[in-house]
Amino acid sequence: MKKLIAGNWKMNGSLESNAALVQALLSHSADWKCDVALCVPAPYLSQLQNLSKASPLMFGAQDVSMHEAGAFTGEISAGMLKDFECRYVIVGHSERRQFHLESDALVANKAQKALASGITPIVCVGETLQEREAGLTEEVVKRQLAAVIHLNGHCISEIVLAYEPVWAIGTGKTATPEQAQHVHAVLRAQLHAASAHADRVHIVYGGSMNAANASQLLAQPDIDGGLVGGASLKAADFLSIIAAAH
Ligand code: PEP
Repeated sequence: MKKLIAGNWKMNGSLESNAALVQALLSHSADWKCDVALCVPAPYLSQLQNLSKASPLMFGAQDVSMHEAGAFTGEISAGMLKDFECRYVIVGHSERRQFHLESDALVANKAQKALASGITPIVCVGETLQEREAGLTEEVVKRQLAAVIHLNGHCISEIVLAYEPVWAIGTGKTATPEQAQHVHAVLRAQLHAASAHADRVHIVYGGSMNAANASQLLAQPDIDGGLVGGASLKAADFLSIIAAAH
């Protein structure tokens, strides 16, 4: 399967710096052998819609509401994201689970709303350092995925799954290729039990992926791409990761 490299800009960017970054990326797009997407802050979706026109670059948002419309100040619905031609939306990023107390059930609901609007949710799962050290890694990621399967079973093969060990996000500590592959294989098996089409689900790795470690991670049989935070903000670094995905 073609690999997917998705950038997560988090709360970074400006109209000016976004334009420069996207233009630098697109000047190499003829060389891309993988799918490339950028998940950007919601106010910049319209800018990405324009900048990516007639190019292979895809884009998405970083969160979506579990509600469709109504009195939910500050929330953004899947239908609104669709208006801006979003292809992807990240749901359940560990920063939202941690700082916004998002539960497994809420994340599953958000994935459902995205799917219902024809947007691919990039569902993030991952254990904290404490959970890993307590030997709970498999239990935690399986519980997080199970909630999403429970609500979206019939169309689970339409999601992208991101394994993002919390201790590796933004810390410079990366899971070894073997550690990541092990968890990806566990997740693949869980998807297989739920769907006949589990083989076509992209399971991407996220957590301090960079130009130096991307090749080895992406060479693992169940690592189908990357979700890249910090390194997606620098064109040269992001392009190196894209080049490693073939
Ligand atoms: C992320 O935000 O999803 C992420 C993996 O961040 P970083 O690459 O900076 O660790």
